[in-house]
Amino acid sequence: MSDDGSPVDSESNSQNVAPRKKKKVAVLGGGAAALTTAYYLSRTPELRDEYEVTVFQVGWRLGGKGASGRGPNGRIEEHGLHIFWGFYENAFALMRECYRVMDRPPTAPLATFDQAFLPRDLIAMEDFVAGRWQRWVVPFTSNSRQPGSEGDGSTTWTVVETVLRIARKLFDRLKSGLTAAAQQGVTLTAEDLTSTAEGERLLDQALAHAVAAKGGQIAAEEALVEQVLDLMRRFLQWLAARIAHLIESNFLLYQLYVGLDFLVANLVGILADKVLSKGFNSIEGQDYRAWLAKHGASSLSLRSVLSRVIYDAAMSMIDGDPDRQAIGAGSALRALLRIGLTYQGHVAYEFAASMGDVVFVPLYEACKKQGVRFEFFHRVEEVVAERIGEGKPRITKLRIGRQVDLKRPEVGYEPFIYVKNLPCWPDKPLYDQIVQGDQLIREGIDLESFYTPWRSVSERVLEVDKDFDQVVYGIPVASVPFLCPTLMKLNPAWRRMAGEVATIQTQSFQIWVSRDLRSLGWTVGNPLLTGYVEPIDTWADMTNLLPREGWAQPNAPRTVAYFCGPLPGPKQPPPPTEHGFPAAQRKRALDNALSFLRNDIGVLWPRSVQPNNLAVFDWNLLVPSNEQLGEERFKTQYWRANVDPSERYTLALPGTDKARIRPDQTGFANLTICGDWVDNGFYIGAAEGAVISGMLAFRAATGQPLHISGEAFWYR
Ligand SMILES: Cc1cc2nc3c(=O)[nH]c(=O)nc-3n(C[C@H](O)[C@H](O)[C@H](O)COP(=O)(O)OP(=O)(O)OC[C@H]3O[C@@H](n4cnc5c(N)ncnc54)[C@H](O)[C@@H]3O)c2cc1C
Repeated sequence: MSDDGSPVDSESNSQNVAPRKKKKVAVLGGGAAALTTAYYLSRTPELRDEYEVTVFQVGWRLGGKGASGRGPNGRIEEHGLHIFWGFYENAFALMRECYRVMDRPPTAPLATFDQAFLPRDLIAMEDFVAGRWQRWVVPFTSNSRQPGSEGDGSTTWTVVETVLRIARKLFDRLKSGLTAAAQQGVTLTAEDLTSTAEGERLLDQALAHAVAAKGGQIAAEEALVEQVLDLMRRFLQWLAARIAHLIESNFLLYQLYVGLDFLVANLVGILADKVLSKGFNSIEGQDYRAWLAKHGASSLSLRSVLSRVIYDAAMSMIDGDPDRQAIGAGSALRALLRIGLTYQGHVAYEFAASMGDVVFVPLYEACKKQGVRFEFFHRVEEVVAERIGEGKPRITKLRIGRQVDLKRPEVGYEPFIYVKNLPCWPDKPLYDQIVQGDQLIREGIDLESFYTPWRSVSERVLEVDKDFDQVVYGIPVASVPFLCPTLMKLNPAWRRMAGEVATIQTQSFQIWVSRDLRSLGWTVGNPLLTGYVEPIDTWADMTNLLPREGWAQPNAPRTVAYFCGPLPGPKQPPPPTEHGFPAAQRKRALDNALSFLRNDIGVLWPRSVQPNNLAVFDWNLLVPSNEQLGEERFKTQYWRANVDPSERYTLALPGTDKARIRPDQTGFANLTICGDWVDNGFYIGAAEGAVISGMLAFRAATGQPLHISGEAFWYR
């Protein structure tokens, strides 16, 4: 090992070669995107010889929107509810590498990738049908693919064939559903039952065409597309004419009808607009549901949770307002196809501890081993660009506030606490390492907050050509107007990006409950559920985390539940002088959490009510007790409002892809950018898009190739 802990390569460390002057790269921000770039910039001995990488991070922990902390009882406290979808090929590949590089002893907790990411196969959705909430429960079948392996080489016809095969299975269920309905007294004519032959024929013919086309047996692609399109449009007409009138009082028939209508309308759109050959971005200017309607989706399926689910999952609500939902059709379709068709192993994965512990500790450890430096408590105040002479302007200064003095600056900040031997991020800075620790505690200062009244103890001004050569900007887009005024002045594309790439506030709460899920009245597995009442539309059971927390028996909780959704609010975050803004928003998040438990939890957990009052949530279920009665008991739980500019969730509003900037086209000579808000090909706010952006930033910074899985087919 070298002095700085990075793995040593004997050839590149040859004694006779004079050390080359390394390029200094300043990475601003320590979220998923920026850490991906830092990781790849330090990945090989050659890169380590060429680049010296420093990450500047506000506050005490990495992870940004995915950051987490350990609170009382070692409990996990997140920004919201986080999972990795099974199609996150690039994020999983990165995590696999990090676990290898980190190289924990085999007996350590979460020593390997496979121990850290756990399958999640059950997705549930709530649908408001016939005046009440009804439930879709979709158990996804697992497959033998490894998360993080190369993509499946999808082509237009493999996708079409797969969708048709799913439709075909649903159709078989529709046939048996109709027979069962007739036996249960639903009035069906003989024609109703026999007409299914027509629907079946249309689907089978389309499937045969797709199989032949995939096998390369048919050359005339255009003509074939037209034939499949014609069959699918006739199928939609058949559904409307023969099935729509039968479904009213039968939820299973409703589900099968809507499922088929939704699938086939998507297929019609894909083929009619040649989405898979022209790229998903070719339809990004349209709203997804408007696009679906244009291609024949019925009003019933447009109202159903199937069409709505991507809006909820991606919190796609203008200014967080559930009544103004919008998402680019390309982004929505891409995400739905990827989630449903291309997962590796399991449809989704949860973390075996918090996201911070499972994702950002290994990223930090791997980067550190590879020689990346971390400067915690460094708040970027301004990125200064200048045009000097001919050519592109460049970043000439970085103004960075040093928030605290460390007691042992020569050692640096050591960021972890240990819960059951697992290194974890704490929920607050480790004050005993900080000179101003007591003052921070006394004044209740939140060093992560953009709105903190705390003034940095000193300012560092980094100069180009001396302190840095290149900048990787990984701080989210809503911060750009505050941190990058000169970039916006010099470059209209930056003004457009800052104005148009939309972000929203979010809210979340977590509750620890003394009874298990079944005894609360939930009977179908451990769900990830969405589509429920706004604004808290999503719930995940996270009970598997309990063994990683530090609860003392016998009063340990038996269920942990995370709830999350948009928090309606201003289009742009207010300025940093609004010191009271976070507290006011946090109060709103509290009120919303209480209102949810008061009014809405009963649909999910019908037995969580008070024994003597069946309409009221039993607040005594919440653990631990604070000896208070009623709603006051909630004060022991965890809730938050994510309202800082950099905490705001990135939306893929229709047409706003055009306002995004590619990491290699920033307009500034020594600057690349990364984040879920840049032009990364996956515009919905998600870890996979962030990781891809970090990989694109690596390419931009080095000019070197780096393979991005799915790039040629999915991310365009
Ligand atoms: C509630 C919620 C739930 C989500 N659920 C999921 C999910 O289930 N699955 C999924 O894939 N994605 C999910 N996402 C999205 C995902 O978290 C983001 O897409 C991803 O974390 C973005 O990474 P990033 O690096 O682009 O930005 P960020 O994570 O925001 O990172 C930005 C970094 O910059 C730092 N920073 C900010 N200001 C400064 C400054 N002035 N100086 C220095 N550093 C600064 C921040 O502290 C942070 O480290 C969710 C997001 C939210 C808000």
